Amino acid sequence: NKEELHEQLKLNISRETWKNWFNTSQIISMDENEVIIGLGNPFLKDTVEKKFGSIINEKINDILGKNIKVKYQASTIDKNTKPLSGPLIRNRPLKLSEFNPEFTFESFVVGESNRMAYYSSIEASKNPGKFNPLFIYGDVGLGKTHLMHSIANYILEHSPDLRVRYLTAEDFMNEMMDAIRNKQMESFRERFRKTVDILLIDDVQFLIGKNNVQNELFHTFNSLFNAGKQVIICSDRTPDELATFHPRLISRFEMGLVVNIETPDESTRYLIAKKMAQMISLQMSDDVAHYLAEHVDQNLRRLRGAIMNLLLHTKITGEPVSVSSAKKIVDSIVRMNKSKTKYNSKEAFETIKLNTVIDTVIEEFKICREDLYSNSRKKNISEARQVLAYILKIYMKLSVKEISKILKRNHSTISHSIKKIDHSLMLGNNIIKSKIDNIKEKMESEKVDL
Ligand code: ADP
Ligand code: MG
Repeated sequence: NKEELHEQLKLNISRETWKNWFNTSQIISMDENEVIIGLGNPFLKDTVEKKFGSIINEKINDILGKNIKVKYQASTIDKNTKPLSGPLIRNRPLKLSEFNPEFTFESFVVGESNRMAYYSSIEASKNPGKFNPLFIYGDVGLGKTHLMHSIANYILEHSPDLRVRYLTAEDFMNEMMDAIRNKQMESFRERFRKTVDILLIDDVQFLIGKNNVQNELFHTFNSLFNAGKQVIICSDRTPDELATFHPRLISRFEMGLVVNIETPDESTRYLIAKKMAQMISLQMSDDVAHYLAEHVDQNLRRLRGAIMNLLLHTKITGEPVSVSSAKKIVDSIVRMNKSKTKYNSKEAFETIKLNTVIDTVIEEFKICREDLYSNSRKKNISEARQVLAYILKIYMKLSVKEISKILKRNHSTISHSIKKIDHSLMLGNNIIKSKIDNIKEKMESEKVDL
């Protein structure tokens, strides 16, 4: 009968494969001529059919002792009815990482500059393992992280049985270091090589010069690759330009699909501006969008920054976004980018501004100035330092070097702080976000343009 056949099939397939692909399977019907196998969702159905079709057919023929046709069907499982018996339907797996819900394929604007990267990402989401690895490279702020989260969000929604792990190369290194320190390399390896179906590693250029970590990544990659698991890698450089990377790792990267994201042209920037405004429910006229597209070029984070500023501006003034307020914000962005060439009176102004920012930050975190420069590792104190570094970098456009002078911390501590806040914001950390919003708002009310 059906249950017996299902059980027999299970015995004939490796545990790993069963766990990954057949956990939602059931025999829907069987008769003299055909067997119909149901799978949890259309994605599983397609993949199993493509990947295991002929093997399954063979096994079923063996089991039943005759030639029989196997068909597949995607069962739509009613989410409201609890399954009576456990094994047919698996529970939603534990999420291995958090993903920014705003970074989706729907919120991504496709243009000439990112078309290949976009479609490859969709392909990797629909047919994991097909293009392996997928390597996306492009300058900072062009949407790489957005695409990675889109892939993760898509898979989570369409194939909840797949275990998706997203992390930056830096996180990977930190986890590895922790594992080494705590003598837990076994479980580290297990975690990355055995319990992940899709591995997304962001900003892999971070591993330049870090040979041990590269080596570990190489082995992780091989295990996943051999098990047919999808690996997706982002970098601000081409595989080729990861000059000091171990050649065997580079050749691994190159054996899959390598795609580039270029800087978007003005018409794409216009559409992106519209989309960004729409995502935060900001009413923005076409004129303003055109103005932004024309004047904020390259890094789309700046475009997003400008739009967030516009939102803040309308919230405070209660006025709709006008071209002139857009102009003011864009000008201040441009000015800040040139803040290195400032003359004396301007410099004095910048000092006042710097002090105001620092005061606002310590007020917001309810600490005193000395705390900021102390060695205290108390959570709110170190967070205040990180947020300050972040604001100085992102809004005041100071260089990491300048910030490390101001905060009396070394270069790598500062860049780590900035990344940490960036990451928290990306993961939707509302506490940090509201603190930064408050700080920006206060600066605004004191008429200091950030
Ligand atoms: P990267 O990781 O390449 O440095 P991000 O993915 O962080 O860049 O993108 C920077 C910002 O620009 C994000 O807010 C992202 O949502 C937005 N963005 C980038 N490309 C697009 C696009 N094509 N459509 C919509 N938003 C985009
Ligand atoms: Mg990124």
